[in-house]
Amino acid sequence: MVLDLLAKGERPLTVGELERCSDKLGWRLSRMQLHRVLARLTRRKAAKRVELLSAYILDGADADCLLVCTRCGTVRALPLPGLRISTSALCAREGFAPSRLICEVPGHCTPCIGGTADRPARAG
Ligand SMILES: [Zn+2]
Repeated sequence: MVLDLLAKGERPLTVGELERCSDKLGWRLSRMQLHRVLARLTRRKAAKRVELLSAYILDGADADCLLVCTRCGTVRALPLPGLRISTSALCAREGFAPSRLICEVPGHCTPCIGGTADRPARAG
């Protein structure tokens, strides 16, 4: 159910938005239930929390980095294997055991800065 809502969302959904959507569909999931479901989905890598927005998206298996548009709220999840490799090496060298890796880049997407998908506009 929650994965269906995340799949239909055009942008990340907060717990409050998921609660309202579930109410409209007659599911009536409480915030506590949603938090438990989202924690389980996140552990299974089916959903991903967008820390900058306190919201959730479907998780892509190879999504290492999130480009978060702070104007329209869209998120692009992209693979960035070099980030994983270099961070693992850094942590190993420093004797640090990371619990997770978060890479989120706030900014503006191409439509929000007035460009097209083919030729992005330059942010001024
Ligand atoms: Zn945008």
